[in-house]
Amino acid sequence: MSADDATVDVFSIPMNVRFRGIDHREGVLLGGPGGCGEFSPFWDYDVAESTAWLAAALEAADRGFPEPVREVVPVNCTVPAVDPDRARAIVTGPHGCRTAKVKVAEPAQTLDDDVARVAAVRDAIGPEGRVRIDANGTWTVHEAIDAIKELDAFELEYVEQPVATVGELADVRRRVDVPVAADESIRRADDPLRVKRLGAADIAVLKVQPLGGVHACLRLAEQLGMPVVVSSALETSVGIAAGVALAAALPELPYACGLATTSMLTADVTADPMTPVAGMLSARRVQPDPALVDGVRADEETTRRWHERLAGCRRVLEGRSG
Ligand SMILES: [Mg+2]
Repeated sequence: MSADDATVDVFSIPMNVRFRGIDHREGVLLGGPGGCGEFSPFWDYDVAESTAWLAAALEAADRGFPEPVREVVPVNCTVPAVDPDRARAIVTGPHGCRTAKVKVAEPAQTLDDDVARVAAVRDAIGPEGRVRIDANGTWTVHEAIDAIKELDAFELEYVEQPVATVGELADVRRRVDVPVAADESIRRADDPLRVKRLGAADIAVLKVQPLGGVHACLRLAEQLGMPVVVSSALETSVGIAAGVALAAALPELPYACGLATTSMLTADVTADPMTPVAGMLSARRVQPDPALVDGVRADEETTRRWHERLAGCRRVLEGRSG
């Protein structure tokens, strides 16, 4: 048996906060001989780009994950572009994370808003905690340099994707002291290794689904030759388990990973979700609970769309291997 003839469950889960313009997280759970895999590309990814996401789900369902070298991985909490009080409340939540990732450069906000938020986070997490920021490529080079210098008053661990292009990233990196992490520049690039060639980043953010699976990410990490931060694509606990498997298999893991994201969904597909304890997630497989899967099952029209998408991606994958 392969994942071809195994179970296919389409889910649609309301989110706690609107994110990437969506208020429901949709996707497919694929059950196979190796376990359960999640296929949940966002709808702004076309079939060609979504094929890597299917390769990742089939790896989990058919083949399984590489041997871990650690049992638990540290994770960060995420502070969206909220006001300082809300930011403080998120950092001191029950997750126990000692690293916070703060969203900055939100289009409708100012640098003063970012400064107030990062100041509140630093104060809440204390001098021993780590604070990183993510601009999602929104700044210009000059804005990035000014903002990073100002925000580094709160001791930044690194800045993630301050500007949009790889060339700009290299430019910023030469002109600030704070380490630079590349996210979109690796995940949505035709050539993820360009970041390395141009000396554009100190750290690589890798996501299992868009990069084609845990084994593919391990190979990419080796080629990049820089520290890796594993992040989620806002998956259910099934998809998060693949991210944790990657983090657990990397030879070195100097930074906390962005995998504590199931709290952004109002429901999960397992009664034992990937929720951090004392800032850590354990490397383990997640088997969906049929009753909980039923509870988040997508309607007929959504299910039809996902089956169509799955078939389209399968055709591309089969075309490549045949
Ligand atoms: Mg990012």
